[in-house]
Amino acid sequence: MKTIASIAAELDGYDPQALRASSVSDFLSRWVEPVAAQETADIFQALGRILSQDVISPISVPPHDNSAMDGYAFDGRQLSSHAEAQETLTLEVVGTALAGKAWQGTVGAGECLKIMTGAVLPPGLDTVVPQEFVTLQANAVSFPAKLLQPGDNRRKLGEDLMQGQPALRRGDCLTPAALGLLASLGIEQVQVWRKLRIAYFSTGDEILSLGERPREGAVYDSNRYTVFGLLSRLGCEYIDLGVVRDEPERLEEAFTTAALQADAIITSGGVSVGEADYTKLIMHKLGDVAFWKIAMRPGRPMAVGRIGNSILFGLPGNPVAVMVTFLAFVRPALLRMMGSTLQAPPLLKAHSMVPLRKKPGRTEYQRGSVSNAADGSLQVRAIGNQGSGVLSSMVHANGLIVLHHDQGNVAAGEEVDVMMFDGVI
Ligand code: AMP
Ligand code: MG
Repeated sequence: MKTIASIAAELDGYDPQALRASSVSDFLSRWVEPVAAQETADIFQALGRILSQDVISPISVPPHDNSAMDGYAFDGRQLSSHAEAQETLTLEVVGTALAGKAWQGTVGAGECLKIMTGAVLPPGLDTVVPQEFVTLQANAVSFPAKLLQPGDNRRKLGEDLMQGQPALRRGDCLTPAALGLLASLGIEQVQVWRKLRIAYFSTGDEILSLGERPREGAVYDSNRYTVFGLLSRLGCEYIDLGVVRDEPERLEEAFTTAALQADAIITSGGVSVGEADYTKLIMHKLGDVAFWKIAMRPGRPMAVGRIGNSILFGLPGNPVAVMVTFLAFVRPALLRMMGSTLQAPPLLKAHSMVPLRKKPGRTEYQRGSVSNAADGSLQVRAIGNQGSGVLSSMVHANGLIVLHHDQGNVAAGEEVDVMMFDGVI
């Protein structure tokens, strides 16, 4: 893995004291590498995991031409002679094909087969007339020929997947749909990258753990719980190292323990400029660490580095800044480490319902509530107190309004980019 200095040298305009959000992303994508270790996962354990190998389809799906409807199957060539004359086609029913119980006989011209959805279409039959379109008389069905084209209501062999073709790719995330696809191929086990192990702790003498008695000037630790939630959503294993006092020995011990066990370490607090505490000092002592001031809000201070074999993300202390820096930078970096090819969710355009004040020269992430306007278009309202310590407005938001680096004030009604939380947090 490259050093921080070598990557910094590759980036245009790298200034740790005033870093653009886009440079941070650029830096991390060059720096962070996949943790390449594979394991086998059973389909029930595979949800959310990342494939480490392509899955080649061992069979074709569907394995045979079959009917998409309950109806009557026949040779579609008989339609053309009747369609122009708008004639009624009458066919004699010679048998029945059920799903899982194929018809063995032959079906000739002027004949058809009663067929159920999913039943195999015998050779020579390519078209199905749905049962609701036919008139049944004695042993024959009649229907207007112009209703159908040859091949209608037929599911073709391999139309979902052809045998020998990649059904899923290395780096794909195993979503519920992907699990279904694996099952449709008869596959019970897959090769996946092992789960990332992330150690995290909070720093600060004023931080109380749950269960501790409130005391003057102290606040309860919320960051460990948002980080826990965010990591769980990503499918990471986590090692919770608690709240670490602002004492050099305690901090050194926590970082060393974390680095021995984890692929990445996430801390919060202690990385701001004027910090009087030891967090930065110990990070500096133990690893190759850069301390950044990012042109963003909320956020700004952040440390990244390497301690032993672990990647360090030293997040700011303020609870919303933790979440925003996680979403903007840590999450994509972790996905990369996980071997995932998942792209960041697309930004959506929504009309801002209110004017927004914004200074050019930094990226701002405002908590927003996105909804559908009366005409169906997307609209977004910046909600509540946007203070970087105010978690309640984060709870009520369903996304972040992303105001880009060079963007200025936004007038009411103007379009802005939004990053939706759904599926992410
Ligand atoms: P710092 O970056 O350490 O200066 O912290 C910035 C602000 O975030 C301070 O008001 C801290 O009290 C607060 N803070 C730091 N860590 C946490 C935490 N784990 N939970 C809640 N608030 C925190
Ligand atoms: Mg602090």
